[in-house]
Amino acid sequence: MSDLKNLRDLTLPELEELAVKLDEPISRAQQLFSRLYRPLPNSFCQMHNISKKFLAKLNEVSFIGEMKLQQKEMSRDGTTKYAFILTDGNIIESVLIPSNGRNTLCISSQSGCAMGCKFCLTSTMGFKRNLQPSEIVGQVLFIANELKSNKNNYINNIVFMGMGEPLANYDNTLKAINILQDEKGLGFSDRKITVSTCGITPKIMELAKISGVNIAISLHAVDEETRTEIMPINKKYPLQDLLSCCSELSANQQRQILIEYILFKGINDSEADATKLAEALEGFNCKINLIPYNEHPALPYQQSTPEVASKFMDILCKAGHLTIIRHSRGSDISAACGQLASKEK
Ligand code: SAH
Repeated sequence: MSDLKNLRDLTLPELEELAVKLDEPISRAQQLFSRLYRPLPNSFCQMHNISKKFLAKLNEVSFIGEMKLQQKEMSRDGTTKYAFILTDGNIIESVLIPSNGRNTLCISSQSGCAMGCKFCLTSTMGFKRNLQPSEIVGQVLFIANELKSNKNNYINNIVFMGMGEPLANYDNTLKAINILQDEKGLGFSDRKITVSTCGITPKIMELAKISGVNIAISLHAVDEETRTEIMPINKKYPLQDLLSCCSELSANQQRQILIEYILFKGINDSEADATKLAEALEGFNCKINLIPYNEHPALPYQQSTPEVASKFMDILCKAGHLTIIRHSRGSDISAACGQLASKEK
């Protein structure tokens, strides 16, 4: 491994620190930072208007990393899945979901995942490694550039709902969010970014406070036993604490929390479960997304019937909860929720 720094791993304050170390004014770092996120300066020689002396010094200690596309597949419904091959051969995936003239980009925070959710295909590939900030931001940058050059289109929302658990890669996720939010970086407002977590409770409030992004919680069950069975992380961070954290979050933040609840046939989809869920979330400023389970032959879980799902939703709505059934997109190309897993072992 070379000791050269990838400049796209650095937040603006970090780049300023580097400039100071190289005996250069901070303003040069600001100028450089904004160039790193405009279309395609992928080498120092393409960086016009930046001091040649500064670039020569940077060339000694750093490089500008790029994402390498391995494969791109488009679903019948217009959803596009991008597989990127990382410099060490690991694969990550991102999914672009166009809907009503808006583009949502679902990005990965890790290659593979260590959380071991029993129903999720990403879990079956195991944990490969954390992504660097440049690899998280790089997915957005690559796809934003492609959209811009093809149709002069852009990304409206970013969701951390691809491979991996963002809060298990906390520092790099936070740096990536910082770069995505920075006006000189990609300039996404905090309202346009949603981080989904399986419930790493101690980090949830911290992330919400520091970054202001939207938080989505993969709840999926309202009793400890069922949740531990399908999501082993519940042993370490029990449901009760997760719900307290959600309550605090919903009281402290002006923002609605998104509660994700996959409906599994015969496991968490009874009327009693719906009532219990409604009670557990009473008084929370939240929106509930009921997600029909995407079945996979390698996994034993089944999707609830549409009748059961709509009954479940009725109970939540009657209890006053804003609830929708979120239909997955891109399932024909394995781009839907929980279907991201590289085929390479
Ligand atoms: N680790 C984070 C980010 C992944 S988001 C988290 O757990 O929130 C991916 C979402 O898809 C999560 O809510 C996950 O529980 C859900 N999911 C996983 N497998 C699924 C499947 N087969 N069908 C529907 N949703 C699934």
